[in-house]
Amino acid sequence: MPKKKSYIFILLLIFCICIGITVKKYKDNIAQYVASFIVDKNDKFFDSKKQVLTKERESIKYKHLTIFYLKSDLELLPETKSALERAIQLNENLFDINDNQPSEIIIFKNMDEIESLSKMEYANGFYSERGKLIGIVPEIKEGEIDLWNYKKTLMHEYTHDVFWQKVDGLGLTYEDFPYWFLEGIAEYVGYDDLDIDIKISNIHTPFVPLKQLTTYKQWNQYRINSDYNVYLQSYVVIKFLVHEYGNEIINKILIETKYKGVFEAGLESATGININTLEGHVKDF
Ligand SMILES: [Zn+2]
Repeated sequence: MPKKKSYIFILLLIFCICIGITVKKYKDNIAQYVASFIVDKNDKFFDSKKQVLTKERESIKYKHLTIFYLKSDLELLPETKSALERAIQLNENLFDINDNQPSEIIIFKNMDEIESLSKMEYANGFYSERGKLIGIVPEIKEGEIDLWNYKKTLMHEYTHDVFWQKVDGLGLTYEDFPYWFLEGIAEYVGYDDLDIDIKISNIHTPFVPLKQLTTYKQWNQYRINSDYNVYLQSYVVIKFLVHEYGNEIINKILIETKYKGVFEAGLESATGININTLEGHVKDF
């Protein structure tokens, strides 16, 4: 599967707004996710805007990451570092990566500002493969920063960065994998080891067949429709895979996808079951 060189010009932005803790209340709290591949011809805009944003901020190094923050967000740094530390650890468990490549993180001051760079609405976090940049804005709830959501979103976006790094190293791209897979992994890390008992049977929205969640276009149709929760169901699929086959299954699927040339064949080779069987198991999980 040859790497598509044109991808260097493709701006990948993956946006997320975190979901509520309980399944029952999730419809009140979510449905504003955005996850997107964007072909951005206006690279100069992104680069110059990013330059302005980083220049007006302080910066601090944390491991292989550089965090850009406003002085008013100084108190967020310990929480930012602890979320990143956990995300690094969880990703190392899922992906066989020995040397993490540098990436940058910008903590935005509000939704308007983050949208001014991402050009997308309802996104309190994004990952851009261009420049390996994570963007995040802390949400204020009842006068205080919603730290749980902040950390979850940061861990989610960081996972997109590691995923990109991994598939790029294999000579693959995001497009070689279905959206449910890459977003499900990011959600899995975002939830950390929280004891949330989410099953398909108690998600009060219809299960979307995995084959209908392959491309961004398909994903986006459901993502913007609050009658569905494709993030939550994708999380459950990844949770099933990890519980059933262990942490190493994710890496195994990536490698088998490279060898087989197609994700579904890679999945079957790594797990011994095809996508339809997987879907059946997940519904009973
Ligand atoms: Zn995402």
